[in-house]
Amino acid sequence: MPNLLFIQKMKFSSLLAAFLISSCMSTSSEGSNNDVSEAVAPVAKSDFREAKPLFGHKPLPSKQSAASFGSYAKGCLAGGERLAETGPTWQAMRLSRNRNWGHPELIDFVESLSRKAAQQEGWEGLYVGDLSQPRGGPMLTGHASHQIGLDADIWMLPPQRLDLTAQERENISSISLRRAGGAYTNDNWTRQHQEVMKAAAEDPRVARIFVFPGAKVRMCNEATGDRAWLNKIRPWYGHHYHFHVRLKCPDGLKGCVDQAPPPAGDGCDAAQTWVDSILNPPPPKPRDPNAPKPQPKRPITMASLPAQCSAVLSSQ
Ligand SMILES: [Zn+2]
Repeated sequence: MPNLLFIQKMKFSSLLAAFLISSCMSTSSEGSNNDVSEAVAPVAKSDFREAKPLFGHKPLPSKQSAASFGSYAKGCLAGGERLAETGPTWQAMRLSRNRNWGHPELIDFVESLSRKAAQQEGWEGLYVGDLSQPRGGPMLTGHASHQIGLDADIWMLPPQRLDLTAQERENISSISLRRAGGAYTNDNWTRQHQEVMKAAAEDPRVARIFVFPGAKVRMCNEATGDRAWLNKIRPWYGHHYHFHVRLKCPDGLKGCVDQAPPPAGDGCDAAQTWVDSILNPPPPKPRDPNAPKPQPKRPITMASLPAQCSAVLSSQ
């Protein structure tokens, strides 16, 4: 049996080495990073500016070929494509946020899902919420993810019309589908909601769909035939005014970091367990007086993003 302490020491010393290299050689070129894993030492390691306002205030995408760099909650988007504000089967909402940008694969996905939604009774298409900022990156408000142009929020409000003015799109609210803290769906739920989410899940480009636990359990109970699509429907907090679609990294995109796929199976038991815990919350754990104070979350700096994000930010 390997000596655990020894392994831990080794890990620590290599981490220390990486830290020393990354903090000393702040102006190094890419080549000098060869001996350090990319995850530990991004190239722009001397840039400790907070990334949020830098990306949040870029009005346009970078003039680069399309690429997603990093992971959903720590990355950026090169060559972002704009989802048209209005299309034959969709409208982008809250235009003032300027978050109707994504990797071309995401734009194509949203448009194709909106065509499928438009076939549902009572749905003219889709109202599309936040995608990404023009160059992705961390957002000024809301969302930890949506950073690499592969996440999309789709409103639960079935579109009755697709001629909303920009002002109407600021004022209108979506509808919530949840009841009892997300344990159940409410009367706004329709079979069509399920069909739209199912259509999204059946698209091979999709990695995950986040929706509140009660919706997942409802779909588990109502699904007939092939249940494979349920695997991608992931119960999560919030997500009752919209569902969130996350695409896999497009094929051949170097530098785009996929999330591990969901565990095998339909995930229905786990969703039911979550619902049960909403209905019968476990007693709160007694506080450990010796527990370390939780550290405040550090803001994402340019140095903590993938190195390519510096070029994305400074590109024309
Ligand atoms: Zn989202």
